Amino acid sequence: MKRSVLLCLFLLSSFAIMADNQIASPDGNIVVTISTDNGSPHYRVAYKGQVVIAPSALGMVTNIGDYTMALVEKSFETKMVSDSYSLPNIKQSHVDYKANEAIVRYERGEKPAMDITFRVSNRDVAFRYTLHPRGETRVCVVEREVSNFALPDGTTTFLCPQSKPMGGFARTTPSYETSYTLDEPAGRNGWGEGYTFPCLFRRQEVLNGSKGSKGSKGNAEDLWILISETGTDGGYVGCRLVNEKGSTYSIGFPQKGEMNGVGEPTPAMALPASTPWRTITVGPLANIVETTVPFDLVEQKYKPSQEYIYGKGSWSWIIGMDPSCNFDEQKRYIDFSAAMGWQSVLIDAFWDQQIGYERMAELSRYAQQKGVGLFLWYNSNGTWNDAPQTPIGKLNNARIRREEMKWMKDNGIRGIKVDFFGGDKQPMMQLYEDILSDANDFGLMCIFHGCTLPRGWERMYPNYVASEAVLASENLHFGQGACDAEAKNGCIHPFIRNTVGSMDFGGSTLNKFYSADNKRGTVRRTSDVYALATAVLFQSAVQHFAMAPNNLTDAPTWAVEFMKQVPTTWDEVRFIDGYPGKYIILARHTGSKWFVVGINAEEQTLKKTITLPMFEKGTSLSVYSDDAQLNGSVKTVSQNKKQQITLTIPCNGGVVITND
Ligand code: CA
Repeated sequence: MKRSVLLCLFLLSSFAIMADNQIASPDGNIVVTISTDNGSPHYRVAYKGQVVIAPSALGMVTNIGDYTMALVEKSFETKMVSDSYSLPNIKQSHVDYKANEAIVRYERGEKPAMDITFRVSNRDVAFRYTLHPRGETRVCVVEREVSNFALPDGTTTFLCPQSKPMGGFARTTPSYETSYTLDEPAGRNGWGEGYTFPCLFRRQEVLNGSKGSKGSKGNAEDLWILISETGTDGGYVGCRLVNEKGSTYSIGFPQKGEMNGVGEPTPAMALPASTPWRTITVGPLANIVETTVPFDLVEQKYKPSQEYIYGKGSWSWIIGMDPSCNFDEQKRYIDFSAAMGWQSVLIDAFWDQQIGYERMAELSRYAQQKGVGLFLWYNSNGTWNDAPQTPIGKLNNARIRREEMKWMKDNGIRGIKVDFFGGDKQPMMQLYEDILSDANDFGLMCIFHGCTLPRGWERMYPNYVASEAVLASENLHFGQGACDAEAKNGCIHPFIRNTVGSMDFGGSTLNKFYSADNKRGTVRRTSDVYALATAVLFQSAVQHFAMAPNNLTDAPTWAVEFMKQVPTTWDEVRFIDGYPGKYIILARHTGSKWFVVGINAEEQTLKKTITLPMFEKGTSLSVYSDDAQLNGSVKTVSQNKKQQITLTIPCNGGVVITND
């Protein structure tokens, strides 16, 4: 009797100090617990009973008050939310989104202070903060966010270091172009500046059975965790992940030195206002590859001014570099795109000097007669780096930008590729948004290079196409090391960079060498089938491939024919098998046409029997594969009764299976 009274008292007192609120995903697999501990909010996350995020801090410190402590929890409200949306330019053309939402409202002096909104769907946890005006005070500067992510001990990391500001080529960093480290223990901090989003983590063999337990069939699966953010616009800054200690990482703001030190790393907000969402995708690797969370949580910010044309195109610069951006060579590439049945040509830097505006208008007319649209390269720069490439000084000023865009509209230009941005401070995020919304006024699509990660932009900005934000194909031209590591990197991107946003990689080379005569320069190590596979593996609704006009005669006919047909927009993605940096097999389809593709970076030939339920027994399949010397070929097979097929992928090779 006495004991139970004591226990009751103990429970009551602990409730008084710490109120636990819980919210689960619709399928119950993910459980988020939100507690207010002596006025400080915390959260923790579990997936199928396994710890994903141990108790971690919430809140922010602003110049009008500290929202990490002395908060009074006023209410905890939950509801179901659902959304149904179609987006032609992401991994899945239609999404039925279902989640449970919880809003914890905090007060100070009996006035609303801060809300924390959580959304929990079957694959993802997301949260964001909403700050309210404080009396007559309606603006604030967020000095720091304390939001952190305490990962369980023993978690390993798959991360891309943030580069220091004003470094690299012509002082253009950070531009999300560094090499990943794979399966490293937690506790490091990249090059001292943390890591760019998204950040992938792994807990070894904790799902569906315990590690090493006797009698288990060894079917335990790793638990994966992908941390990122979405919904970032000119109302905030782009964030990164900084190691606090051990396996705990926290939200970091931009570095002070970005934009040549001009502007603050801290965001300013007009209240009431909400921050971008912090997202945590959890589960087996399929959840990581198939997540749509970057798009589920955002809204379209303006209507498209016209229907935008997605598709394939060619791009001379990757093989011919700056000198190729001349009238005759671009005309040859327009003819090449037309011969391939492709939709566009991307004309890179120095076109304003080497072709000029008048002859560009002539070139655009020529392209239009051939059913080809032109994308033109621009330097974003005002005052944030030394990159001399032109046109320059055209897009960083609204008056000049809109004049330039009017000229493009008048001359039938389809879109722009803007390069060399200056980091993630708020004025730079505003520049992205201003370029996008002005471009929409003039019917132009936007591709960004030397840039930040897109954060839900495919849905927010209907004329946004894709961003680089990765060590992309240019490095294959610049150095043999990148060619040697091409397959390894190709096996990373579908799990990390490309899963949260369209990636403008500019790959699928069929040249043997990265040079116009195809006889010298860096040597491609990957096979032709690998090139075909990555056309499906890397997702972007507009793809400018690294193929060249000579490939019409010097590349295998089956490869060229495949590249004419391959889609760039997809109804769905299904992860089949793989491991970051080692190999990947996935499937995409558009309508009833499926493409199952795989690539292998491991020294040992990959041999896998996979079940492909999307192909009925007896379906005629084209199988593109490599022999041990990486010579590709295509053969037709009929789907067997078990609906299984055995793949053999040598190192640096690929496989593609498609229904005829
Ligand atoms: Ca670049």
